[in-house]
Amino acid sequence: MVCPNCRAELSASDTYCAKCGTMQQTVAAQAPQTGSTHQLIPYKNPMALTSYYLGVFSVLPMVGILLGAIAVALGVMGLRFWRANPQAGGQIHSWIGILAGGFFGALWLTLLVLLLIAIFSQVPRA
Ligand SMILES: [Zn+2]
Repeated sequence: MVCPNCRAELSASDTYCAKCGTMQQTVAAQAPQTGSTHQLIPYKNPMALTSYYLGVFSVLPMVGILLGAIAVALGVMGLRFWRANPQAGGQIHSWIGILAGGFFGALWLTLLVLLLIAIFSQVPRA
């Protein structure tokens, strides 16, 4: 934190600047908000939030392939958005979206491929 008046280095607990005496409440108000509510639900990072929900819903068979793929894509975008705007949060939601969407998407895709192989292997040969 830096004093807006004289640019002196200040600690977050300082109420007044030790060098020039400027009141520091304005500095505290301008500090990035990293409250717990922002970390729990990243409203400012809709890509991360959407990725999280799509990742959760990718547990549904077959449609989970599509939902999982979108969840991974949005999760990567959400992580990029979080790196550019750390105060927006959404890191955890993005990772859950990527991991859950990637896992279930790959799971349903594997089952679909195995199902198709089973069906085609049972086609009677002429
Ligand atoms: Zn100062």
